[in-house]
Amino acid sequence: MKQRICKRCGRCCRVTPPSLLEDDIVLFREHELDYGYVYTIRAGEVVWDNLEDRLITSSFELLKFKESEEGYCIFYKHEEKSCMIYDIRPIQCRAFFCTDPGEFYKIFERPKLTRYHLFKDSNIMRLIEEHEKKCNHDLLDKMIKQIEQDGEAAVKNVLSILRYDHELRLAVKTKLNIPEEYMDLIFGRPLSKSIEYYGFKLQREGNTFTLTLSPVPPKAPA
Ligand code: SF4
Ligand code: SF4
Repeated sequence: MKQRICKRCGRCCRVTPPSLLEDDIVLFREHELDYGYVYTIRAGEVVWDNLEDRLITSSFELLKFKESEEGYCIFYKHEEKSCMIYDIRPIQCRAFFCTDPGEFYKIFERPKLTRYHLFKDSNIMRLIEEHEKKCNHDLLDKMIKQIEQDGEAAVKNVLSILRYDHELRLAVKTKLNIPEEYMDLIFGRPLSKSIEYYGFKLQREGNTFTLTLSPVPPKAPA
């Protein structure tokens, strides 16, 4: 077995912040970790893969800890180069070691924690399903690819699901009194962020939504 000497450089808490596995549900059930620390990557979503250093399309749903602007896991404490939740850190964090990632890759195959485990049989689950029907990433992808062929008509379609995504979040926050920081877990990252991977930007002025070309599509939007 390779010797494991951790230099505590923190790179793994930036490059490979964990996705959560089914068994990590104890973090919420037993340790009462707040849902506001987590966001969802939905199936079909285009994401930047830090390990492979390229854009990929996620074929399944994942829950991840939120990241700071510099891309570090929200629980990474820079001053002390340490993990704020070390004793209860997720399974993937326990398994990962930079010079010996074999265990991590094995663990990665285990069943993932999803929104369905956290919100089973609730009204929120019904909202999630409705949102998935009208606002999923396959649909967004098709609509964006149609722009080249159909021009303005396709742009209108894209804007209509961006608007739906935006307004549903707003309604759930104001009418159901659900904190803003839960929205990226309940509905995934806003579609207005996702379109940046396609080289577009959403400009919003009051109730007017406009799609513009992003001069330099970001490699990995925050
Ligand atoms: S496991 Fe490796 S990458 Fe992570 S902190 Fe230790 S030395 Fe750095
Ligand atoms: S939970 Fe802790 S160990 Fe895991 S990525 Fe975040 S800071 Fe690093």
